[in-house]
Amino acid sequence: MKRILVIFAALLFLTVSYAGAQEHCGKCKRSGALNLTDAEYMALADSIHKVAISFDTHVDTPTYMMHPDGHYTVAKGQTSFELMRRGGQDGAFFAIYLDQGPWQNQKSLDSAYNWCHSELQLWKDYVTSYCSAEAGIAYSTEDVYRLKKEGKRIVVLCIENGYPVRTLEDLDEFARMGVKYITLSHNTPNQICDGSRYVKSYYWYPNTGHGLSPFGEKVVERMQQLGIMVDVSHISSEALVDVLKVIKAPVLASHSGCKALKPSQTRNLTDDEIRAIAAVDGVIQVGTGRFFLSDDLPYYKVGVAVLANHIDHIKNLVGYRHVGLGTDFDGGGGVVGMDNSAQMKNLTVELLKRGWTAEELKAFWGGNLLRVWKACEVYASQFK
Ligand SMILES: [Zn+2]
Ligand SMILES: [Zn+2]
Repeated sequence: MKRILVIFAALLFLTVSYAGAQEHCGKCKRSGALNLTDAEYMALADSIHKVAISFDTHVDTPTYMMHPDGHYTVAKGQTSFELMRRGGQDGAFFAIYLDQGPWQNQKSLDSAYNWCHSELQLWKDYVTSYCSAEAGIAYSTEDVYRLKKEGKRIVVLCIENGYPVRTLEDLDEFARMGVKYITLSHNTPNQICDGSRYVKSYYWYPNTGHGLSPFGEKVVERMQQLGIMVDVSHISSEALVDVLKVIKAPVLASHSGCKALKPSQTRNLTDDEIRAIAAVDGVIQVGTGRFFLSDDLPYYKVGVAVLANHIDHIKNLVGYRHVGLGTDFDGGGGVVGMDNSAQMKNLTVELLKRGWTAEELKAFWGGNLLRVWKACEVYASQFK
């Protein structure tokens, strides 16, 4: 009973903003802004996850599950519907990932499209045929709320790398299949735009710098007309500038970190880029790959607190309405203390200790993403 009262009082307290100075008491092992024990913080996290709709906006799980015998260099098996359930995580964007191939070659574009199409279909069949008791695919924000009510895990389809987009009609087909975001490129150039790992001297489209190609501009326009969100993770800084000129609805960065905290990672976002994404009411979903997060710490020391530093950096810069989480699990993500979907609440505890309120945490876990998704749906509705 006492535990319930403590949590109720803490929840009440959390509904209003406060300046959370950290307090530590060695004797009673209480800590953080609310001065609770670890068990009390975890119980509070539990209660927040029950009411929040929580999303991870980037996992590479389909690649691993559909090709278990592949030679993988990163940890695998970090996300499953059961792990999500245990972690109080409602939904995830499951990516069909494509390595970049020779985009100037029609044959390779055709094979990228065919491969992506069949992987999408396979993943959809797996979810709908074998997992329908525990999970469902969300084709709209309405579906998200329905699946949450039904207590099912929420599967959202997305494509990491626009390489398979040969024509605007291909986008129509991906939209029909239920794809909700496409990451325009993956570190290196393709027919849509340049990637974050470009070399300045690298020849690309003449007269377009390293931003969007003329075709890429049309792709971004058509994606938004179809209600496919534009994902700016992995693209070049020049491409981001161009995207922000073309868009009519907000964008997301599905898994990105802050350059201010790890400057050597070319695909992390600068403070100006974070401000620019927030200015269009977009959201930056912070990745958990340790290679994103710290230049100073050895790999085995990059934990939940380092991840929370990136999240707090964005919150301090542009406010809590523009930050969320995209773990990159099964694609290189994971920190000490949060290395699979079952451990999501450890991050909630860390943020509670730093003074995040329940309202802010609900926005962080899903409210912000759903706002962007809804705005994209509303914009697209006029083209139906
Ligand atoms: Zn990925
Ligand atoms: Zn990625």
